[in-house]
Order: sequence, then structure tokens, then C-alpha cells
Amino acid sequence: MSSPSSRPSRPPPAEKGIIIKQGKGLTRVGLVYPNTYRTGMSNLGFQRVYHLINQEPDIACERIFLPAPGQKHAAVISCETGQPLQRFDIILFSISFENDYIHLVDILRQAGIPPRSSDRHHLHPLVAAGGVACFLNPEPIAPFMDFFLLGEAECLINEFFGLFHRYSHRTDLLAFLETDLPGAYVPNRHPPFSEKKIPVRFLENLDHIQTHTCVLTSHTAFKDKFLVEILKGCPHGCRFCTAGFIYRPPRIYPKENVLNAMDKAAGNTRKIGLVSSAILDHPDIADICQYGTDHGFSLSFSSLRADKLDGTMIDLLSRSRVKTATIAPEAGSERMRRVINKKMTRTDIFQAVEKLVAKDILNLRLYFMIGLPFETDTDVQAIVDLTREIKERFLTVSRKQKRMGTITLSINAFIPKPATPFQWACLADDATLKHRMGILRQGLKQTPNVIVNLPSVKTAKISALLSLGDRNTADVIETACDHGWAYALRRHADHCRQIIHTETSVPDLSEDSAAGSLPAGPPLPWHFLDSGLFEPFLAKEWHRAEQETQSASCPMIRCDQCRVCRT
Ligand code: SF4
Repeated sequence: MSSPSSRPSRPPPAEKGIIIKQGKGLTRVGLVYPNTYRTGMSNLGFQRVYHLINQEPDIACERIFLPAPGQKHAAVISCETGQPLQRFDIILFSISFENDYIHLVDILRQAGIPPRSSDRHHLHPLVAAGGVACFLNPEPIAPFMDFFLLGEAECLINEFFGLFHRYSHRTDLLAFLETDLPGAYVPNRHPPFSEKKIPVRFLENLDHIQTHTCVLTSHTAFKDKFLVEILKGCPHGCRFCTAGFIYRPPRIYPKENVLNAMDKAAGNTRKIGLVSSAILDHPDIADICQYGTDHGFSLSFSSLRADKLDGTMIDLLSRSRVKTATIAPEAGSERMRRVINKKMTRTDIFQAVEKLVAKDILNLRLYFMIGLPFETDTDVQAIVDLTREIKERFLTVSRKQKRMGTITLSINAFIPKPATPFQWACLADDATLKHRMGILRQGLKQTPNVIVNLPSVKTAKISALLSLGDRNTADVIETACDHGWAYALRRHADHCRQIIHTETSVPDLSEDSAAGSLPAGPPLPWHFLDSGLFEPFLAKEWHRAEQETQSASCPMIRCDQCRVCRT
């Protein structure tokens, strides 16, 4: 019996829906989620790509994950057939979160594949990546990739494999990939900060699309839950949030598609998770939920906006035996909510809390951020005051239930994100973050039934570096692989300071920019990406934040606000 550490990491059993393709002439794709099985299989985007690639007749796609801790020397093999990673024709990383970049290097090294594209040759598999983290800013991992597929998978997968078979030699494929496939990006054909634009591809509409769990397993964060996406993007445009900008215009799955997808859960599980950044903005949400409960499913929801929580929805939550509701005010003061364009008032929050508790949903999770642009200590003190007031209302209603739940505050450090109005911002410095955490700790200590989870300054720095980084950031990632992040942040202190703590000047919107061009500010590493977002619109939103002015939500009807619908 081989020792546990050298035994290849195989998936836990009891999976429903896996796809195993055997036979000659198949192109073998190793689809890698650069984190553990549990995390990867909880990701609907990853499951969707697995399904799509296996729809291609002559492609066999198998899943690979980061070997569990303690298996540092284990072979990196696939779930389906145990095939070692280095034996696939194409290795495709599906990356949703920047913080997983370090695992990507670990996995390639553990499989004996040189991480840098420039160190690989024709006998090595092609190494590529896709996923939202990549189409926001691929530059920190560009040196590790032969190519990227940027955008929604449905726009790229079939076209890519059509091309792949046309070219018998990888040099030709990589030479013509960008011209033949809009959305493909071959880094070693572009100097950093290249002027040549690379389009990011998005589906025009979702009329013929269903996005749902493909492989059902109990070894995920959503134990045996069948996930169904019901809306892509979000119309509300909170200025820190990528979902509100990069996926514009928000697109709605037709009700029939959602109900058909839910039907696929029948016989496999009774648990359905509805997924979207703006669940309650689906025009048929009440019918969808009614259909679910009428067919005996227990429903759960990825996010709920307090300002949209009406009696019907709360009834449904209660009937679905939801025990904890999540509300994301993000900022404590009305001023700061205007700055970030979070169109949620104190009244919305209090009413939602009272309705939820009255319906026996006794636990609350509240999301807040600190370190936001234009934030003051008073705004952070307002988080303390708002939480105390929520607690009072919570208490008043709970007393009637004679039971008291818990309020959990999840405080995150604001991380600037590409393709949002706050893309020009920088991470707040350590002293400011620590001081503001002190205000929260002091203000809420000894508040019974209130738990406060504070962020780590180090993790915030790593996230900001990987979110805003350029190609030199790849050196930091490799150093972190060898010696850990603390050493890497010190060793590359100048680069990290320049990326993390340097605010980039926001283009000033003089009259002439209304015509469509922006006065030249220093280029940002991801400026060569064209997602259709009109940069002057983002800059205007930054200036409106400075003026503490809210902006209307995206009407989802081809207006001219951000001009995405023009492209
Ligand atoms: S142009 Fe208007 S409708 Fe289209 S995405 Fe922008 S805000 Fe939404």
C-alpha cells in the first residue's frame, strides 16, 4: 500500500453526471480549477466550461484540481481517468479568483511542466486560461500562458476547437489565433501595455442558454445542491463591483430555460440554488420560486438585496427553511452608500431585518467594506451605529419569537477592480486599515449576539496586487510559491508599492471627452482589453462618487449611458 503522500489525489466518490470519453483520435483537454476539488466543484462557471468542452465531438475534457494539502508530491491527475496533467494535449485553467494564481504555478511545477511559456517547447502541452479573473486583467499570469480565451465560454469554446484542428503545428496556431478568433490573446505576441485592443466576448442574449450544475456531488460548499444561474450581471452599478460593469448589459435567462434547468434536478436532489448577483431583478422570480416549491424543491439564493425583499420573497425564504439571510449594505453611512452608488437606504435595511426576523429567519449576515475611496473615520463609525440600530430592531422583533439569533458582520477591505469606476483607486495603507478596524473592534466589542469578522491586511495586499498587477507581478507570484507571500511582498517591495499603493490619476472629463476620447492618463495594465465598456463613462462615475452623487441603474433597454449596447 503506497504511503498517503505519494498516492495520486483522486476525487471523492459519489459523483453524478461525470463525462468519460475514451477512444482514438480524441484531443485530450485537462480542465484545471486552481484550487481544491471542493472549491472547484462549487464553481458554476467551471462546471459550465466542463459541459461545453465535452459537447465538442472529438474533444475529451477531464477535471483536475489542486492536490489536497499534504499531497505536495502527489501526481497531478484527472478525476475521470487518472491521467497525469503533463499527458494532456491542452491544459486549460478556469480562473474566477486572482488569489488562485499562485496555485496555477504550483500545479504546473508539481506536474513537472515549466510554469513560464518561454521555458516550454513543442513536447509540452499547450497551456491556456480563461475565466472572469483573466478577462478583467490577465497580465499578472501572462508569462505563464501560451494563450488566453477572454470572455464567456459559449462565445469561444466551439470556435477555438474548430481552429485547433485546422493548424497542425502550435506555432501556426499561436501565430494566427488572435486574428482568427476574436477574444483570443497570445501574450508573447504583445509587448506589455500594447495598444492593440483585444475584444472580450459576451453572449448577446441567453435565449438558448441554460447554465446549471453538470456534476452533482456532496463534496462541495453546496452539498448536493443543483445550481441554476438565472441572470448574468447586475443592473445596479455599485462602483466597486465588477458584476455591475463587466457583464453589461445584464442578461436575463428566459423563465422557460430556468424551469427546464430546474427539472433536471428532479430525481437527483431536492435542493436547488438560484444563482445571480441580482436574483430579485429577474422579472419572473416569484413564478420561478413558486414552481420550485410546488415541485417540492427547497430553494436557496446566492444574494438578496434588502431594498427588493418583499413579503412574497420572505414567505418563500421562510418556506424554504432558510435560517440565515445575507444583506450587503457595504457602507455604514448614507453618504458612503451614495459614494459607492449602493442604492439602499437605512429604511430599506431596517424593514428587511424586521420582516426577516418576523418570519423566523433569525440569523443575519451583513457585508461591509472599509478602505473605500473618499471614506472617512465617521463613515466607519457609522457601520458601528448602523449595526447597533439593526441589533435593536432585531431584539424588538425577536422578543416576540422568544428566541434570539446572531448578527455576523463580514468586513472586507476594499480591493480596486479593473473595469469598474474605482479601477483608478489604490488599496488603503496599512495604518488606515488597522485604524478603521480598531474603530469597529472598539465600537462593537461586548455587543451580545454580534460577531465581527475583520479582514487581513496581508491578504488584502495580495488581492490588490493580483487584481491590479502587470507582467512583473508574475515574478512576485513565483517568489511566493518558493518562499511564501510575506517574503515575496518584502522581496518585491518596490513593485508591490507601485501597484498596490499608487493611485492612478483619473482622467479629468473636460468637454472634449464627451465626444468619446479620454485625455491620456497613465495606461493601466488591462487597458488593451475591450469589453465594450466606454472608459469616459467609468471616469464620469468616479467623479460622481467624489461628488457623492448616485447614478441610475442600467435600464437593460439599450440606452446610451455606458454605451456598451452600442458595441
Ligand atoms: S447602454 Fe444602457 S442599457 Fe446598455 S448596458 Fe449600458 S446602461 Fe445598460
